[in-house]
This record gives sequence, structure tokens and C-alpha cells, in this order.
Amino acid sequence: MRTKELRIFVYEYPTLYDLPEADQKLVLAAREASGRAFAPYSRFNVGAALLLENDEVITGNNQENAASPTGLCAERVALFYANATYPDIAVKAMAVTASNSHGLVEGPVKPCGSCRQAMVETEVRYKQPIRIILDGKKKIQVFAGVENLLPFAFKPESLD
Ligand SMILES: [Zn+2]
Repeated sequence: MRTKELRIFVYEYPTLYDLPEADQKLVLAAREASGRAFAPYSRFNVGAALLLENDEVITGNNQENAASPTGLCAERVALFYANATYPDIAVKAMAVTASNSHGLVEGPVKPCGSCRQAMVETEVRYKQPIRIILDGKKKIQVFAGVENLLPFAFKPESLD
């Protein structure tokens, strides 16, 4: 038996204004998008903003449905829209935020497993890591790539 140790890097910032300017703009775009979420069941409004290689910013928010599995998370709404609209343009960064009836979550907000898997596919598709910025009232976390959020991910080579 061999034991392997994984190193995961998380960069933490106390407030929005401590982030690099480009990250601040993306978080603000995600917060704005969260205000347009359709979340009448959970009342948990999530917003995601993507920065593409062509400097376009794509936003998404959670879209719930009375038949709950039919809805979709903000991250995948944004990713799939970006992939559908700009199929040849890489995704450089993604900011995610969430608010409940008390406002911005203490957080940082964490993407669900399915969204992490969709992010992995996007990284593989465009052959570059996505910078991920997770918003919260307590602190904001930044990850240099999805491998820090989803180690041992299922990838195309897993099909071999
Ligand atoms: Zn999700």
C-alpha cells in the first residue's frame, strides 16, 4: 500500500475589496445576476459570472422548478450558455455568490458536485484551468483550478 498526500490551495480574502480588481468585477456581476434568480422554492438566490478569454462576461442564476430535479444551478446555467454561445472561447474565471432571506450568505458559497463536474469538463474542453472565486460575507475564497475543488475527478480518460 502507498499513501499519497494531496495539496489543495485556497486563497482567502477578508472582503470583496481585498480581491484583485478583475475578481471584484466578476463577483459584482455574479451578485447582480443572483438578483434575477428564479428560486421561489428554496429562496436561495445564486448567481454565477464567467470571464471568457475574449473578455466577455456571461452570467447565470439558479432556475428552480416545482418538479425540483428539473431546475438547474447558476454555475451550469452560465457555463452551458457560454459553451453554447461561444463554443470556441475558453472560460478563464468564474465567480459564484448566493444570498438567502438575510442577504449574502456567510459562506463562502460552495458549488455542488454536479457543477464541479461541469467545470472539470470545461477545463478539459478548453485545456486551461478556471480561476474560481467563491463569495461570502465572512470571507471570499479563490481557487486556481477545479482540481482544488474536485480532486480525482471523472475526466474523458476515465472512459478508457
Ligand atoms: Zn450546482
